[in-house]
Amino acid sequence: MIVHKNEKCYEKLQKRQGEITRTLEHVQKERRTVEENKKWIGKAAYQSRCHLLDRLADWYLKETTIIQEALMRIREGRYGICVGCREPIEPQRLETAPEAAFCAQCQKLRESVIQRVA
Ligand SMILES: [Zn+2]
Repeated sequence: MIVHKNEKCYEKLQKRQGEITRTLEHVQKERRTVEENKKWIGKAAYQSRCHLLDRLADWYLKETTIIQEALMRIREGRYGICVGCREPIEPQRLETAPEAAFCAQCQKLRESVIQRVA
């Protein structure tokens, strides 16, 4: 029953995962191209390109982890429950962010903590 209810989210997440995988492959290919042309481009250009591509790759890898975790929560029937306070996550929140692991309140709290640490 739970799986059925979250079928749409599951599909959405899998689709998003597919897009991310493709984009990540593109970024990694681009990174290799930069590496191969290292001696043709200036050092500063090379470094800023690598920096940007590495950051992109990092971001997509992190996104992959988040989506994989959400898919696992669906399979295990824990989906839609806030990891922080164990309360149900707002349905409209899952509609826009199906990978959400926290309710709006917990997310806000976490972000303010992360900002304080950083
Ligand atoms: Zn919460």
